[in-house]
Formats: sequence, C-alpha cells, structure tokens
Amino acid sequence: MFGKILIANRGEIALRIQRACRELGIRTVVVHSTADNEAKYVKLADESVCIGPPPSKDSYLNIPAIISAAEVTDAEAIHPGYGFLSENADFAERVEKSGFVFIGPRPESIRLMGDKVSAKHAMKAAGVPTVPGSEGALPEDPREVVKIARAVGYPVIIKAAGGGGGRGMRVVHTEAALVNAVNMTRQEAQTAFGNPSVYMEKFLENPRHIEIQVLADQHRNAVWLGERDCSMQRRHQKIIEEAPAPGILRKLIEKIGDRCAEACRKINYRGAGTFEFLFENGEFYFIEMNTRVQVEHPVTEMVTGIDIVQQQIRIAAGEKMVLRQRDIVTKGAAIECRVNAEDPYKFTPSPGRITAWHAPGGPGVRVDSHAYAGYMVPPHYDSMIGKLICYGDTREQALARMRIALSEMVVEGILTNIPLHRDLMMDEKFVLGGTSIHYLEKRLAARQLNQA
Ligand code: ADP
Repeated sequence: MFGKILIANRGEIALRIQRACRELGIRTVVVHSTADNEAKYVKLADESVCIGPPPSKDSYLNIPAIISAAEVTDAEAIHPGYGFLSENADFAERVEKSGFVFIGPRPESIRLMGDKVSAKHAMKAAGVPTVPGSEGALPEDPREVVKIARAVGYPVIIKAAGGGGGRGMRVVHTEAALVNAVNMTRQEAQTAFGNPSVYMEKFLENPRHIEIQVLADQHRNAVWLGERDCSMQRRHQKIIEEAPAPGILRKLIEKIGDRCAEACRKINYRGAGTFEFLFENGEFYFIEMNTRVQVEHPVTEMVTGIDIVQQQIRIAAGEKMVLRQRDIVTKGAAIECRVNAEDPYKFTPSPGRITAWHAPGGPGVRVDSHAYAGYMVPPHYDSMIGKLICYGDTREQALARMRIALSEMVVEGILTNIPLHRDLMMDEKFVLGGTSIHYLEKRLAARQLNQA
C-alpha cells in the first residue's frame, strides 16, 4: 500500500479522499490555490502545497505545478477526485511518466471514454445497448446529415464528441432547423472542447437517468455495485441522486449491470467508473462513461457498505479485489441532496462567508462537506458546498430522514438551494419515485408561471 498520496482537488472531495487515506493509514498531501489557503481540510492534511492563484487554470489545472508538488513531498500516488484533471488522459500519462501512480484508469481508457463517439462505439462492440443515432461522427456534407436525421427520426439531439458537464448539446425538432443547429454545435464544440466533432442521437422524450457503478482491478476482475437514479436535473446537472432506482425490475438492472462488468473486462478497464444510461419504456441506452469517482458515489456506499474511494486506492496499488459479484448485496435506500451556494430558485451563485453552519445528524445521516461557520465560499469554483446523504431501511424512511435533516440544517450568510430540496422532498411525484430527467425543469417553469 502507498505511504503517501497527493490529492489534486479541492472542497468536499479533497476531504473525502483524505478520510479514506487516513483509514488506510496513508499520509496525505493536499494541493491548493491561494483562494483555499484557509480551508480547514487543507490544514487537516498531513502536508499542503500552494500551487497557484485562484483561477483553476493556474492552480487546480496546472499540471507541472501538481507534479512538482508530488516530487517535493515524496508522494507515491495522485488522486484526481472529480472534475478538474480527473478525466484528462494527458494528465494521467504525465503522472505515470513522472513515476507516480495515477489513481484512476489507464490513460488509454480515459481517452477512449473521453471521446463520446469512440466510447459509444466501444460499448456497442462490448454488447452494451446505446441510443440509436448516427454511426460515429456526423459527416461534413449537410445532405448526408439530413439523410441520417430522417433515418433516426425527429426529434434528434446533436452532441459534441468532446462534450461534458452538460454542455455542447442541442435538440432539433424539425428538418428546417437541422443544418444550422449542427453548424452551431460544431462551432461551440471547437471553442469549448477544441474538437469540432459532433454526432447525432435520437432525442428521448421522457427518459430517466440511471447509472451503474463499477469497480475493476488490474487482474481483470470487475464487479458492479448496483445502480443510481440521477434523474432530478437542471440544465443536465444532477441535484438529487438515489439508490436503488425506484420501480425498475431487478432483473433488468441485473442484466445491464452484468453487461457493464463484462464491458470492463473487455476493454481491460481499471479503477472505479460509471456507465450512464437513459432509461425509457423498459430499455437502457448507454450515453457515456465517467472514468472517475462521482459526486453521487455516497448513495452507493450507503446501500452496499463498500467504500468506493478506498477501493480506488487499493486497485491503484495493484491489489486484487476481494469483492466478488455474489458478495455484493444492496440493502435499504439512500438519497443525496447536493447543497449548492446559490439562489434556490434563480440559481445565481452565492459565494461569500458562511456566518452560521449547523449540520444535521442522527441515524442514517451523512454530511460530506468541507464547510463550517466562518468558511468563505470562494467565487472561483463550482458552487457545491456539500452533500447531505440519508439512508433508510426503505425509501420512505430515507425520505423521512432527509426531510428531518433538511429541516435541521442551517446555513447563514450565503444563499443555498436547501429550500428547493425541502420542497422536492415533499413533491408528490418525486415521493412516488420514477420522475424523468425533465421533471425538475417543468416544475420550475410551472412555479414561475404561478408566481407571474
Ligand atoms: P455530459 O457528458 O455533458 O454530462 P451526457 O451525454 O451524459 O453529457 O448527457 C447529459 C444529459 O443530457 C443526460 O443526463 C440527459 O439529461 C441529456 N441527454 C443526453 N443525450 C440525450 C438523448 N439522446 N435524449 C434525451 N436526453 C439526452
């Protein structure tokens, strides 16, 4: 096992990784920008290295600075967390070439999955069902594009091969709008991701977002740890996640889970990963794979009892997984609310100093957060300041505990989306379970109309 790990991330996930390391008896180094100088998790780490000014490109995305920090502190491995450099194949490569272990998949796997066109192709070949659409990237010739769209059937969605974070997508309802939409998405993709390649999918009207968590070691063992339902989204960004997904037949989940584990073995995948699917009319359609730990990993940890971050570290250290598929049982239900520093209904970011912070507690309540009273939420990064996760023997109990936890939670000095979560935990359709990815936006639009 490693003696020392460098954490190349910030906020709650930097703290989460530290906790996993400490339990394994591993020393930690945290790198940080000047905006995070005073953060408590930075002080909690065994060592910390300031790697640059607040803008991410000069600090959390600064590859040479991070590698130097690993060199001067004698770290053996680097954990990238999520976001920032976690899915950057060049970074993974540089880390390994510099003699450190990258806690994540091999750079080839990151590259394969980072291009959505090649990812889809590889998954299709591995027997994972995908959304019907263009065979690979769209051709330049507009007449060809029109032909493809006719074959797929409207509405279609144009997506950037290099896209991520819910950006680089455009829905097209009619042939008249098609060519222009393709050109615009191409231009945006070039500017945002440096890759103009786009592809087409059938736009599913009312799907749910269901994903499968996998773990694979370096000895071709792969298992899946159940599913998560992340359908509560706004602008393709998840805000509530839960496990298991309510109302889906276990045998359907088992079938797709086994396919995912099999795909991992086929592509010789290593580490933790997530296969994301849209689920509609009883069918799963692969949309992308995330080659890193996800924000919503705690709900899976709560229902399986498996520490995913520790598993990532063990796998990176070359250990053989002791977990076998038959040992993995999910029990009970868990729900996660992402707590964001933002206006609960206008969604404008609300950075600033937290003047009061009371975290909830009690049976089945987990708070993953780096925030505290007096903490200054910097304006430079993602607005998520923590995650509230509640577990119960049943979904009803998890929901009840979440309502209580949200009623106890106090954050003052900044605005948060806690009022929205309180609202949603009482929402009739959400309480029933199984709402689609469009539910939240429709509900928000209706609320606006009611207020006007
Ligand atoms: P990103 O990498 O940016 O997160 P994804 O491919 O995972 O992109 O898609 C993000 C979200 O966009 C999905 O969760 C879903 O809400 C929506 N989406 C993507 N593809 C489709 C599709 N074919 N039909 C309907 N919605 C889609």
